[in-house]
Amino acid sequence: MKPFEILQKQFGYASFRLDQEAIIDSVITKRDTFALMPTGGGKSLCYQIPALCFEGVTIVISPLIALMKDQVDALRLNGVAAAYLNSTQSYREQADIIDQARLGKMKLLYVAPEKILRDVGDRDKLCHENFNPTLSPFLQSILSLKVSLVAIDEAHCISHWGHDFRPEYLMLAHIRRLMPQTPFIALTATADRVTQKDIVEKLDLKDPNIFISSFNRANIRYTVQPKRSGLENLLHFLKKHQEDSGIIYCFSRAATEKLAHDLKTHGYSALAYHAGMDKSVRAQHQDLFLRDQVKIMVATIAFGMGIDKSNVRYVVHMDLPKNIESYYQETGRAGRDGLNSEALLFFGLQDVAKLKRFAVIENNPEQTEIAVRKVEQMARYAELNSCRRKYLLNYFDEKTIEHCGNCDTCSSTFEFYDGTVVAQKVLSAVSRLQERFGNAYVIDFLRGTTNEKMTDEHKAMKTYGIGADLTKHEWNKIIHELIDLGFLRKAEGLYPVLKLSEKSEAVLRNETKVTFTRLKLTADYQQTSGDY
Ligand code: ADP
Ligand code: ZN
Repeated sequence: MKPFEILQKQFGYASFRLDQEAIIDSVITKRDTFALMPTGGGKSLCYQIPALCFEGVTIVISPLIALMKDQVDALRLNGVAAAYLNSTQSYREQADIIDQARLGKMKLLYVAPEKILRDVGDRDKLCHENFNPTLSPFLQSILSLKVSLVAIDEAHCISHWGHDFRPEYLMLAHIRRLMPQTPFIALTATADRVTQKDIVEKLDLKDPNIFISSFNRANIRYTVQPKRSGLENLLHFLKKHQEDSGIIYCFSRAATEKLAHDLKTHGYSALAYHAGMDKSVRAQHQDLFLRDQVKIMVATIAFGMGIDKSNVRYVVHMDLPKNIESYYQETGRAGRDGLNSEALLFFGLQDVAKLKRFAVIENNPEQTEIAVRKVEQMARYAELNSCRRKYLLNYFDEKTIEHCGNCDTCSSTFEFYDGTVVAQKVLSAVSRLQERFGNAYVIDFLRGTTNEKMTDEHKAMKTYGIGADLTKHEWNKIIHELIDLGFLRKAEGLYPVLKLSEKSEAVLRNETKVTFTRLKLTADYQQTSGDY
């Protein structure tokens, strides 16, 4: 059967979505393939349909045992021969499944990465590049099958640059080495540019076809409001959504319970959900929400994984999420039915400091640095003067129009003000420091703050301390605005150094003015920090 026939006859769908057809084409011509597609976009069919076109078995690596079982059950309902292997099964069960696959009676075999890992033994060894595993009986039996395709779901887990690195995924690079002829497809819903590149390299994908489906959720309106008087603002927001279903995310378990309680006293139908609750209570709350018997779920991020409720009208974040990936995924639970929906974030600077503290991973400065940078990118989102959708889409490397018209900044009015003098201060600091330092150092230098790294030579410079009148945070915003306007650049890499651009010179020579933009204050939105 051809892919389109399989789509209709076996899966009962009328047409392909997003890049599905092109991805499937790429895979069945045995090209290595990388697919970035938002959650709910339909990644599974991209390997399930090729699996049915090929003769042998398709191995699917998937990290979530619960979702694996759901997928296999759904496939069986559609009459597809599928099974999974994970550590919850007995040796006998696993051997039976592999036997069936050997006899050609299995089209898709889902395997948990830790299943492979367990046989390899020492987890630490995985991180060494030249580690060469002796083949375990399990791996040998997989390799003895006629494997037509290997699909790696949640492929971002292989990358240190991603937000969900799992060492056991590194093992997949070895499997790739053992199966050089077999086509691989890597799929993920969340990978920024660096992570995408890293996935392709780690899996050694050969001249892969790369597909990046649109991440735009046009029906979701993005809004940020100050966190001060959060509950009051929230109640104001909820007034417009009396009959609607919504999810409200809080950082802590205690906060979910308190807020659910507060909302109930204000007459709303709300329940809490977090991982510290009894399993049966959690299941019951989730069920009531899914059946629309409770309107509001006040939850920690433990809530939502694999939940497919189409009529969620809004997702509110009472606290700042720790990265854009999470924010995009969580807000993406709104408006699955395509109707207008809201994503509202309450933002306060105290969250940035808190998340940065949580981002510290002991004895791992590199991972810490990455996590801290992701917090900063998230905070940047909250402080944008430009289109929020554009920022989100650019984060996933998608080019888009300047103004979406469906976010708070796009529908705000702006005022302009002269920033030439502050711009000159920043640019001359960068120039004096010979374009060799990042934000933090430049800001300390401007503010005349001593830190252990500040050299005496720098302290003796005339520019040192010329910006003592502004806070760190205000300088940070100015630097970012200068980057956006093209007056400054950030060098790529782990330690992004500030560099002058071709437009800097004219500012330093006072030949051009720099105009900054800020939102005009409205009743619904107030700037979180003061004027410069
Ligand atoms: P992802 O893995 O990208 O999050 P899934 O593969 O789980 O998404 O698909 C999400 C939902 O969309 C599933 O219910 C799936 O059956 C459905 N779906 C996928 N492709 C199509 C299609 N072409 N037409 C209609 N529904 C589809
Ligand atoms: Zn916009």
